[in-house]
Amino acid sequence: MSNIGNELGQVLNSVLTTGEGAGLDDLCQGVVRRYRDAGEPEPDAIYVDRDCCSESGESPVLTWFRPWTFTVRLDVFHFMRRFTNGLTTEHHPLYGTFCSKLSSCIFKWDKADIEKLQQAKRAELVKKHPGHNPTHSQVLASITTSELAKHCRRKTRGVEETRALIQQLLDSMWDLTDTTGLSLINQESMSRVWEVQQKHLPCIQDPTGVQLYINTGSKLEKGDKALDVLRCARGSSSLESFHKHQCCFIPGKLKHLTFKILC
Ligand SMILES: [Zn+2]
Repeated sequence: MSNIGNELGQVLNSVLTTGEGAGLDDLCQGVVRRYRDAGEPEPDAIYVDRDCCSESGESPVLTWFRPWTFTVRLDVFHFMRRFTNGLTTEHHPLYGTFCSKLSSCIFKWDKADIEKLQQAKRAELVKKHPGHNPTHSQVLASITTSELAKHCRRKTRGVEETRALIQQLLDSMWDLTDTTGLSLINQESMSRVWEVQQKHLPCIQDPTGVQLYINTGSKLEKGDKALDVLRCARGSSSLESFHKHQCCFIPGKLKHLTFKILC
């Protein structure tokens, strides 16, 4: 199954083949033609779930979408998923902690956006409980993941900072176990995963000069403040759900995703 989506979360093309990789060239050239016929500008960046770079130089994605020139990037969700191969099980109680820490090794929040959201949430709490002055940690605890995603921008930290942070994270978790003594990390597998994935650290960095956040124009009232609602072009959750949904309809053992591109 090959799916192509755009920055608006729309699915542009979806093709099911019996063999992996068959017809990819036609599929991509078809999308190039549709953009040209519609007078749409060429994309600045394409996010993929594999083939982001190649030992021999150029990513094959650039050939499939010729004559376009763009930055090829690896989708961060897929980069992170690869680390699960170095874990003993995804059902480990420390799994969630590991994933959220891994994500903060890659991204940092925009300070000004966070500050604005905190002020709004503080005002909201004061309105709800008049006469009570909420502490900083009460304000932080009241912020949901969806509020962060709607009102705050994130950007990648850069190759060297992320490399050092992931190394620190692994060093702090190599030996951690649950109460039954089961380790979270399989040291041998994780060492292999980390060695290979370090090559892709440049591939997950935000492409320079590409506007990844769009202000949707709508605002949400919080406390006495109106916060901008942002949409991020990075990430592939809508395409991912679409893909998963389709796979449920198709009988057979090979249900995994083979290839996916975000324009
Ligand atoms: Zn790569």
